[in-house]
Amino acid sequence: MGVRYGKVRHPLLAAAIAVLLGIFAYVMVHYWSYRALPGELAEAFEEETGIELTVEESKELMDFVLEEEVGQTGFIGYIKFTAEEGVSIGRVGSGSNFLKLPALLAYPLLLIEMLVSAGAAAMVAMAMAGEPFCEQDDLWYKTRDLLKSSGTSASAIAEAIEAGQYDQIPELIEPPEKALYSQVKINACPRCRDTYLSVLVSRENKSATVYTAHLTPEQLNALEAAVASGLSGA
Ligand SMILES: [Zn+2]
Repeated sequence: MGVRYGKVRHPLLAAAIAVLLGIFAYVMVHYWSYRALPGELAEAFEEETGIELTVEESKELMDFVLEEEVGQTGFIGYIKFTAEEGVSIGRVGSGSNFLKLPALLAYPLLLIEMLVSAGAAAMVAMAMAGEPFCEQDDLWYKTRDLLKSSGTSASAIAEAIEAGQYDQIPELIEPPEKALYSQVKINACPRCRDTYLSVLVSRENKSATVYTAHLTPEQLNALEAAVASGLSGA
């Protein structure tokens, strides 16, 4: 994904870039099927008539047909033709005309198709760009679950973290229930281990953050050690 490699961190900027890339990709797909058309046309023509066409001749034939049908040649003519012929699933010339739509519907559909692909790209990009990024290490922070517990233990766990009394945490962990549970999530730089911690309570697919904190690497180490000792029953 371009956003990760390009290290774009502003969500809206990332979304805008994704939309442009989405539109660009969409146009490219249509452009390549346009570019392939003379070759396919030549092949089909030879099959039908036994006459061999050069790609140049085939292109002239294509433009002639486009001019006749939609009054425009080249790529623009092709797009117009595609839209007015209906949005067809499958390759041109493969005889798959089963999904033909009236021209009036075809343009809005092409537009919706393009917007959906651009929108999906934008959402992914925004989600990625919203993640914290470590300037010092040039790395994205990674999210993971530190622990799960019962829903009712969330505030006690948050208080223990706030007070720095990590050794109390193992005692506070209770078996999580399916309907109501709490989670301690950490979002840490993989290298320097600078950490954002959050305590969430989840009830039937809805989560609420009840506590957040910034931890130093040392604090993360101590917290992880405390949780690990609790889990091993020591
Ligand atoms: Zn870092």
